[in-house]
Amino acid sequence: MKPMSEGFVIGEGKISGYSSIFLAILALLGVVCFKYPEWLTTPEFRNIYTGESMKLLLTGVIIASFFFALLSFLLSRQKKWAATAIVINTACIVLGGFSVQGRAVEKTSWHLGLDWLLLDLLLMAVIFVPIELAFPKNKDQSKFHDEWRTDLVYFVISHLFIQFFGVITQKPATVFFGWMGLGGLHAWVRSMPFALELLMAFFVTDFCQYWAHRFFHSHTYLWRFHSVHHSTVNMDWLAGSRTHFVDIFVTRSAAFIPLYVFGFSEITFNTYVVFMAIHAVLIHANTRINFGVLKYIIATPQYHHWHHCEDPKYYGKNFATIFPFIDRLFGTYYLPGNEWPEGTGLHEASYPKGYLKQLVYPFTKSPFDSNLDMKDRASR
Ligand SMILES: [Zn+2]
Ligand SMILES: [Zn+2]
Repeated sequence: MKPMSEGFVIGEGKISGYSSIFLAILALLGVVCFKYPEWLTTPEFRNIYTGESMKLLLTGVIIASFFFALLSFLLSRQKKWAATAIVINTACIVLGGFSVQGRAVEKTSWHLGLDWLLLDLLLMAVIFVPIELAFPKNKDQSKFHDEWRTDLVYFVISHLFIQFFGVITQKPATVFFGWMGLGGLHAWVRSMPFALELLMAFFVTDFCQYWAHRFFHSHTYLWRFHSVHHSTVNMDWLAGSRTHFVDIFVTRSAAFIPLYVFGFSEITFNTYVVFMAIHAVLIHANTRINFGVLKYIIATPQYHHWHHCEDPKYYGKNFATIFPFIDRLFGTYYLPGNEWPEGTGLHEASYPKGYLKQLVYPFTKSPFDSNLDMKDRASR
C-alpha cells in the first residue's frame, strides 16, 4: 500500500469514508438551498446556474457519496464512516434529494451565500485534496491538523457573508471614484483584445494589492490584523481562508478600485474572479507540484510559502499575489531554486487560537502599542 500523507493510505477505506461523509453533508445542505433559495442562495449566481443544472449536480453528489460509502464499507474494518454517510444521505433523500425542483425567486434584501459556499467547497476539495494527497509538500502534515476547524470556519464565514463582503469592498471605489466620468476610459479598455484586457486586470489589481499587503506588514497596528493570516502553521488549501475581516476589506477594496476605475468587460471581470478564487487557494496548498519556468512568471505555492516563512531572516518577501516581477521591481523578491522554507507561521508568542479570539485580538491592543508580545523573539 502506498502511503499518501499522514493517516492516509490508499486502499484502507479512510479516504473514501471521509469523502462519502463530506459529499453527504454538501448534498444535505444543497437540498436546504433548494428549499429556501430566497435566503440561502446568491442572486448573482442564480443568474449563472440553472435549477436544472444544480439538480443534476445534487443527484451526482448523492450518488458519488453512496459510491464512496460502499467503497469504504468494503475496504475498511471501520464501518462507522460508511454508516454515517448513509444516515446523512438517507435524511437528504427523505427531504427530497432526488425530487427537489428549482423555482423562480424574488430578490430579497439579504441572503446568505450557502450556494456559493457549497459550490466553492466542492470545487476546491475536488481540485486540491487529490493534489495534496498525491504530491504533498509536507508529507507528515495531517489533513485534520490542530487548526483545520478554525480555517474551515474562516472559509464558511467569508462565503456565507458574500453579500456583506461584496458591498463593503466595493464601497471605497464607488465613494472615491464614482463621481468621475469614466465612460471614455471604460470604452477604451473594453475595446482591447480579451487577452490584453485580462493581463491588464491582473497587473493593476496585483500592483494595488502588493502595496496594500506591504502596508499591512510595515505598520505594527495593521500587522496585528494581517498576522491572523500568517498565524497558520500548517499551510494547505484551507489555510489561505484565514484572514481577518479588516484585512479582507482593505485588501479586496484595494483590488476592486482599479477594476472599477478601468471598467473591465464582464467576461474579463468574471475570468479574473474565478482565476483568483482558485489561485489564492493554490498558493497556500500543501503541494510541491513543479511549475517549471512558470514559477518565474506567476506566484506558485513555493513562492507564497516563502512569504509565510517563520524565520525572521526571510520576513518582508514576496508580497505579490500573482506576478513575482512586481516583487523584483520593488526589491522584495525571494525564490531560491527549489528550496522551501523550513517552517511557516509566526514568531509572536502565545498567538490566540480560534476564530473569535483572532477576530477580537487586533482590537484589544492600542494602536500606539508597538509591543507585539514577541518577548525575546525577532521583530518583523
Ligand atoms: Zn502577508
Ligand atoms: Zn498567504
